[in-house]
Amino acid sequence: MSKARYNRVLLKLSGEALAGGQGFGIEPEAIGQFAKEIADVAATGLQLALVIGGGNIFRGMAASAKGMDRAQGDYMGMLATVMNALAVQDALEKNGCDTRVMTALSMADVAEPYIRRRALRHMDKGRVVICAAGTGNPYFTTDSAAALRALELKCDAIFKATKVDGVYDKDPAKFDDAVKYDTVSYMETLEKRLGVMDSTAISMARDNDLPIIVFNLYEEGNIRKAANGEPIGTTVQGGD
Ligand code: UDP
Repeated sequence: MSKARYNRVLLKLSGEALAGGQGFGIEPEAIGQFAKEIADVAATGLQLALVIGGGNIFRGMAASAKGMDRAQGDYMGMLATVMNALAVQDALEKNGCDTRVMTALSMADVAEPYIRRRALRHMDKGRVVICAAGTGNPYFTTDSAAALRALELKCDAIFKATKVDGVYDKDPAKFDDAVKYDTVSYMETLEKRLGVMDSTAISMARDNDLPIIVFNLYEEGNIRKAANGEPIGTTVQGGD
């Protein structure tokens, strides 16, 4: 396999990627589908940090819409990401990939606490770092956690692996004439609310010139292609 174009990348996986067809919870088979590819890419020498979502199990905002305290719900959402992180760790290790789960909320019996310099050291040693519990703060999302970790871990890009094959000018599931962007600026993404990541994440990426590559997780070979710098999906970068 050819050498990756990037040295270090942050891969954001939404909770729904772990749910498979059932749309809820954790489906080990679904994780197995992309775990091999992540392990293969890591084996080429690409340093990888993963941020895992939790929406397949719990979202604080949805719970607060039904009357729960928002912060309370958000902590539950962060705990959900830890379960997902452990499931992804299991799948990666089954593919021979060395990993460490690091959590933003301390739970030392389950995983290491997130310490930036330790995360960097793990990656230097070829371990995939799986960042769990988001930012550790309510009112944030794992998209924001992805931007934060990508910046502090000096990643070259965020890979946002989703169920669509890039960013469209309107929802391709609803409009036949939706047009996909090859590249789009941060500002246009924000102004047109293109739904790539939440606005906090996009703003952080914009302020720090961090490219976001959006691509379809379910198309085999896409993680490898993105790592090699092949033109897939949509790249969010540049502008004013
Ligand atoms: N969450 C939070 N702070 C964070 C990250 C996540 O409070 O820094 C909570 C929030 O309730 C969120 C849930 O965890 O809804 C799951 O994360 P997210 O919705 O980002 O998961 P995804 O959509 O990627 O599956």
